[in-house]
Amino acid sequence: MEHRRLELALYGKGGIGKSTVSANLSAALAAAGSRVLQVGCDPKHDSTRLLLGGGSLPTVLDYLRTVPREQERLDAVLRTGWGKIGCVEAGGPKPGVGCAGRGIITAFEFLERHRAKANYDVLIYDVLGDVVCGGFAVPIRREYADAVFLVTSGEFMALYAANNILRGIRNFDGGECRRAAGIIFNARNLSGEAERVERFARAVGLPIVARVPRSEAFARGEEAGKPLLALEGYDREKAVFTRLAETIRSGLTLYEARPLEDEALEEVVLRGGTAAPAAAAEPTPEPQQKAKTSDPAPAPDEPRMPLYGCAFNGAATTAVHLTDALVIAHSPRSCAFYTWQNISSPGRRNLFNRGILMPSAISPGFETTEIGHAEAVFGGVEKLRAQVERALERKPGAVVVISSCVSGIIGDDLLSLERLSTPETPVIAVPADGVLGGDYMEGIRLCLHTLAEKLVRRDAPLRPRTVNLIGEVGVSNNTQVDYQTLRRLLGEMGISIGCRFLGDCTAQELRDLLSAPLNLLATDSQDNLELKAWLETEYGCRFHPGCLPIGFRATRNFLLELGDFFGCREEAEALISREEADYRREIESLRPLLQGKRILMTTINANLDWLLDAAEDCGMEFVWIGVLNYLHRELRITDRQERNAVIREITGGDIVEQRIRELKPDMVLGNYTARAEGGEYIADTLPMTQPIGFGSGLTVLRRWAQLNKNEREGEWEHDRVWFEQYFA
Ligand code: SF4
Repeated sequence: MEHRRLELALYGKGGIGKSTVSANLSAALAAAGSRVLQVGCDPKHDSTRLLLGGGSLPTVLDYLRTVPREQERLDAVLRTGWGKIGCVEAGGPKPGVGCAGRGIITAFEFLERHRAKANYDVLIYDVLGDVVCGGFAVPIRREYADAVFLVTSGEFMALYAANNILRGIRNFDGGECRRAAGIIFNARNLSGEAERVERFARAVGLPIVARVPRSEAFARGEEAGKPLLALEGYDREKAVFTRLAETIRSGLTLYEARPLEDEALEEVVLRGGTAAPAAAAEPTPEPQQKAKTSDPAPAPDEPRMPLYGCAFNGAATTAVHLTDALVIAHSPRSCAFYTWQNISSPGRRNLFNRGILMPSAISPGFETTEIGHAEAVFGGVEKLRAQVERALERKPGAVVVISSCVSGIIGDDLLSLERLSTPETPVIAVPADGVLGGDYMEGIRLCLHTLAEKLVRRDAPLRPRTVNLIGEVGVSNNTQVDYQTLRRLLGEMGISIGCRFLGDCTAQELRDLLSAPLNLLATDSQDNLELKAWLETEYGCRFHPGCLPIGFRATRNFLLELGDFFGCREEAEALISREEADYRREIESLRPLLQGKRILMTTINANLDWLLDAAEDCGMEFVWIGVLNYLHRELRITDRQERNAVIREITGGDIVEQRIRELKPDMVLGNYTARAEGGEYIADTLPMTQPIGFGSGLTVLRRWAQLNKNEREGEWEHDRVWFEQYFA
């Protein structure tokens, strides 16, 4: 045999006897002069027992759990057994927790790191074959096993597992190389067993390279903790392994993996039929090729939505608005870090530049379990449980636990932790599962629904003159300002805001969601409309028909409607007349700077009556409005028919420059700052989010007045103040 390391993987269904076969084959190879390393890849970690006098080894994974990387030593897990055979056990988690496949990957990385193979000519990997996850497929990756043996009896499930292994090989090799070395038939003495295995072997085109008889020799070996070669007698059984070792040492013939389709397998094994291997007629493509063909580019008429963020991120960003809750991200540190940035960055900007911070965004009650390698392999529920128990000692309004990709993949059972809930503090599991649960918006939806289902009381006492505010924008400079505006206006009418679902409210406020007779939708985004429909259906919530009002006219109508609903119309009218007096006073102060100015505007299709009203109140004139109708909806820029004469639908910029040259406006407004050619004018952008209330239009008029003043006086000394106010 030329001196080249040979790596062999023995796969077989659990309990089929592959550890016994592996150990006896290792012994036969060692007896023939090979230096053998046997690696047990079954979480049961008993592969090398026969080589170690019946003793067991510390597993690689147990060792890695307790020893820091810089102190790792190969000899802590590598022992020399019978025939100087090197023995290693990968180990794995307890059944039902963690990810054994990930454990195998970790163990292989350890062996690579420590050059464990360097002193051996033959490696034998003893692998569980009825597990189909990627971790158990590691030994059949190209950089490991040169040849794969299938250990099977004549039972259908054992042959089913053998067929699955062939599928795994084919998936890795794409039918381009030959690594199947044959079948090791470990007989159980079942009736018709040999015929079943032979039919299977013929159908998949593999030889039966060894027939291991049913024999009491193996029980004797088990009792003694020795391979057959170390026992007296049993020559027939020993010969099986000696011959196989000779075959291996003299050069194996390797075959293409040609698995059967499930129906063909049943036909061959159970009904005695013959079948051509399905995969031979139709080769299984490489995983990458598969991804390409099964994931075609979207047809032009089916635009695919981009995937923004992950459900974990969306759920965590939402849950922190429950201000007295503690949110625990069951995630690696990196996931929590990105989410933390997402939550706190807008808050920091607000804090420093505008004084309109959202408290939850500045210092969210947010922690992570810092899932690492150990939890990914052995399961992370215990670590999470300990963290939840510590959190409960602090008596927060709720403890919300959210799963990430890793905890979702290893199947950590978050729901079981809800049993830790105390009378004061519910534990709420949000199984977002990272990107497995969908994108950012899916996470928001899941979190809102879960929090409502777990907290909202259906028997909450009714509180008159109370509204809830539903669906505030999470990341916007206006959100907190709008809330303050609404609170002030409603407060003057004797109406209070009960719950903000979900923007900085307490668990108790959410419990009492149904106390409010009326709900106000913050915006009419598609997601908010869906949330509204859900609350109406699930809880019978009643909603005001519109959303929060922008501009003088809309705010007046809105308050009158609330006045009618709550029986406080007089308070509404008194408030409106006070606000109107203030509004008129400011309009008059701005008029000298703005009156007669002609405005040309390009905009997307959104209702801008608040802006048109305010400009007209100041004596300004819109000479042309070009609408980029991205949403392909009916043009909806104004409620007033007389304005429609100046509105045109446009598709690009050329027409805008032409209109500017023709109409010579004083101001050009657009949704972005690009300045078109065509004349002398002041350019400004339309705000992406508009403040609600009577003063929406005043905020832009003040700014235009300043722009016009500076233009007239040629002075820009107020730039710094503006910058801080509007752009910083
Ligand atoms: S996609 Fe998964 S890994 Fe990435 S941040 Fe989300 S939870 Fe973490």
